[in-house]
Amino acid sequence: MSLAEIIGVGDELLYGETVDTNTAEIAASLRPYALEVRRTLRVADHLETLALEVRRAWEGARLVVLSGGLGPTPDDITREAVAQALGEELEIDLEVLAQLEALFAQRGWQMPEANRKQAMRIPSARWIPNPRGTAPGWWVRRDGKDLVALPGPPAEWRPMWAETLPQLGLPPRPYKQATLKTFGLGESRIVELLGELFQRNGEAQVGTYAHADGVAVVVRGEPEAVERLVDALRSRLGGAVWGEDGDSLPALTLEQLQARGATLATLESVTGGALSALLTSVSGASRVYLGGLMAYHPQAKAHLGLPAEGTVSAATAEAMAALAQERFGATYGLATTGVAGPEELEGQPVGTLYVGLAGPEGVRSRHYRLPGASREVLRQRAAHAALAFLLGELR
Ligand code: ATP
Repeated sequence: MSLAEIIGVGDELLYGETVDTNTAEIAASLRPYALEVRRTLRVADHLETLALEVRRAWEGARLVVLSGGLGPTPDDITREAVAQALGEELEIDLEVLAQLEALFAQRGWQMPEANRKQAMRIPSARWIPNPRGTAPGWWVRRDGKDLVALPGPPAEWRPMWAETLPQLGLPPRPYKQATLKTFGLGESRIVELLGELFQRNGEAQVGTYAHADGVAVVVRGEPEAVERLVDALRSRLGGAVWGEDGDSLPALTLEQLQARGATLATLESVTGGALSALLTSVSGASRVYLGGLMAYHPQAKAHLGLPAEGTVSAATAEAMAALAQERFGATYGLATTGVAGPEELEGQPVGTLYVGLAGPEGVRSRHYRLPGASREVLRQRAAHAALAFLLGELR
């Protein structure tokens, strides 16, 4: 298969001042085409290095896409580097220069001399207009290959790329992507369960990605093969699957509650309001979610009539859930108590979580040992764990 190479340009990408999301987004946009992306690169604002990388990419690839470095300042060197790599000379385009000057005049400014270089191109480059910025892009078609240079800001390059990509005439590839969202299984456990289905070659490939709402199992490839593989994965993963593709755990949970004409209230400790924040992030949540309490200090728990000892326990989680249900007059009460760290609590390790659930069928709880490095990651995982527990029970 032909290759595509994507290069992000800019010192800031190397040092993390800007996290490079452009190259990944551009790579993902190429998935419906029969082009293989084997690497993406981040290169500093260094002319010789960039020219070298562009030349190397141009020699091996059918398509080269660059993002960034089209600005007016001396460190914006993408145009120069591409000219050098392709052995062409930069020329000023008077029409584009006039457009740039007019753009500045509209804002009541005189165009700085520095912006002149944004009207420069090599003879084999066509302009890609940029309605949202001063830097137009380039589309070079030569020797049966294409090179596209886009500006860095996503709001600028996205519409330019959306215009250009279909015009490149890239060979299409039947392609489908499907996601199964799971909770409660670690990535390595999932890989173990999937066994031979976890293949990286063939007509469809499986990848696993850990998020706060669990591990997403993503299948990509030829549409029929993807469908077959998804069916097989679903039966292997069983009850761990809570949703697919664009599903969100809070939205699905609220939907299930609403379908039953049920309401929900929460009482949080370890999640510190994260559970309530997740629920209220869904529009229309107020039809189902009555509200929540947050009791963090033992004094607050005592004030609510909860036991002062053993705050991180199944019994406390259940008492909290029953209290939320009762105080708010809700169909279901959902509660979290646990250890967010950095120190252990009551002899229980960081990542310990108890979720309590009180409903028409009585009160129960579940114990978790969540992985996670930071308090924030743990809090988010704990809030999602509570929702996954409730959703599972509702179903
Ligand atoms: P401009 O005319 O805005 O200067 P440019 O082509 O020179 O356009 P850069 O200066 O390289 O673009 O980047 C401008 C901004 O675009 C960066 O500050 C950053 O916010 C965003 N950006 C650039 N490259 C990337 C990238 N690879 N991933 C995500 N964002 C990026």
